[in-house]
Amino acid sequence: MEIPYGHTEKIKINQHAKPALATQVDAHRAVLLILPETAGAAAWKQLPYAGLLRPRFRRLQHRDRHATRLVTDLPNATHVILQTLDPQCSTFELLTAARKLAEKLREQDPTSVLLQLAGFKKPQARRLTEALTAALLASVCPMPSYKSDAEKPAALKRIEIHGLEETVGLGQVRAEITGNHLARWLSALPANELTPGVYRKFIAALARKEGWQMSFLDHEALARKQAGAFLAVAQASPVRDAGIVHLRYRPRAHAGKPRLALVGKGICFDTGGVNVKPAKYMNGMHEDMQGSAVALGTLLALSRLGFDRPVDCWLALAQNHIGSRAYKPNDVVRACNGTSIEVIHTDAEGRMVLADTLALASREKPQLMIDYATLTGACIHALSSRYSGVFSNRDALHGPLTAAGRDSGERVWPFPLDKDFDEALKSSIADIKQCTLEGEADHILATRFLNRFVADGIHWIHVDLAASNHKGGLGHIPTDTTGFGVRLTLNLLLQQRVLETPWS
Ligand SMILES: [Zn+2]
Repeated sequence: MEIPYGHTEKIKINQHAKPALATQVDAHRAVLLILPETAGAAAWKQLPYAGLLRPRFRRLQHRDRHATRLVTDLPNATHVILQTLDPQCSTFELLTAARKLAEKLREQDPTSVLLQLAGFKKPQARRLTEALTAALLASVCPMPSYKSDAEKPAALKRIEIHGLEETVGLGQVRAEITGNHLARWLSALPANELTPGVYRKFIAALARKEGWQMSFLDHEALARKQAGAFLAVAQASPVRDAGIVHLRYRPRAHAGKPRLALVGKGICFDTGGVNVKPAKYMNGMHEDMQGSAVALGTLLALSRLGFDRPVDCWLALAQNHIGSRAYKPNDVVRACNGTSIEVIHTDAEGRMVLADTLALASREKPQLMIDYATLTGACIHALSSRYSGVFSNRDALHGPLTAAGRDSGERVWPFPLDKDFDEALKSSIADIKQCTLEGEADHILATRFLNRFVADGIHWIHVDLAASNHKGGLGHIPTDTTGFGVRLTLNLLLQQRVLETPWS
């Protein structure tokens, strides 16, 4: 299976301190000019063709005083988009504005784009450059298509950025886009294409290419480990291709450095099991593996950045099928850490496969473990698909988590995880109930359930991916499938530096 996740890595990006000259503008089909809303004469003077563009923008603002965007053509047919932006706005707003600009440019399908910033202070110019580059790259990522007359891939080969007093490091943006693209592509694949077996083979090829070690725990290996929670979900599959992938990324001189574990729910299709989903809710369930794709995309991005800490990545790949062998409500199964579970609702399969995966990942004693899962409808009810929910067994991590959400534009909000929620999960026959049927804060109960499988001493973050699919795109991402989580995690690790603090 070929996935063009490296597509944007071939796009050249050049940065220039000097404002663009008219002759340089003439050489491009599409030009993007960005000014602050309060731009004065000095900022305008830095723009090429200012004498022509400023009166046109004034006329536009005369008609509509809220106008912030002028779309026009120069005499030589160069297409110009002139946009004013408030440099104080949030990263999310900046990324959203950048996505809309990138979508406008995409209509022109240029081979090169000239981007000129004028009138911004250095840190503002850096933020804008990062957001605009992220959106331009995200806008040209191809997505799976099975149409007979498939859309041509975007022509963009080069971005020239002018007016930067200092060079902006774009390595993190580029790595994030590559990881996010991989996550989006995998998630958008139909379930008859991306079976657990096909997925595993793709990951094996990727691991060879990227120099990661890989092992795979199949049905037999999981049975030996007594991973009864995972196997309960997998047992209805007519093909025994489910299992847990374990990837190891080991940078040079990693000995003694605290380890990170990334864990992902990879349900390649979720029928709901014998508590079968109605049509409206089963639609889109090929994306129920997005947690695993986000964990994998994050690993790829970290690998591209030469992250200096060892990372283990655990992906729970399975399907939740109906059939005579399927697990049923009131079945009692035992996970590999010895905890017995009373099954209540077979559509709560995500927490079942994650239970054993988290317990196995815990045995390697990572300092920090982050899991990603499209886990609960309750989280979407609470936050909509604009935010994702986060939980941690260390309250002190709520600060860095919300900061990473704000700073990256992939917004998250923390939920509580107090012990007394466990009362709802008391079972008369087993150690714990899988869930309840009452619909009370299921996102919190699901996390309390998962908490049983995370070993003490591990700093743990659970991301309930409510924002995995947002109609029309979200932030800088133009597709419904968002790949939410890669950008957030890079910020958490590289800007908030959560691996470097002992959280209590
Ligand atoms: Zn489900």
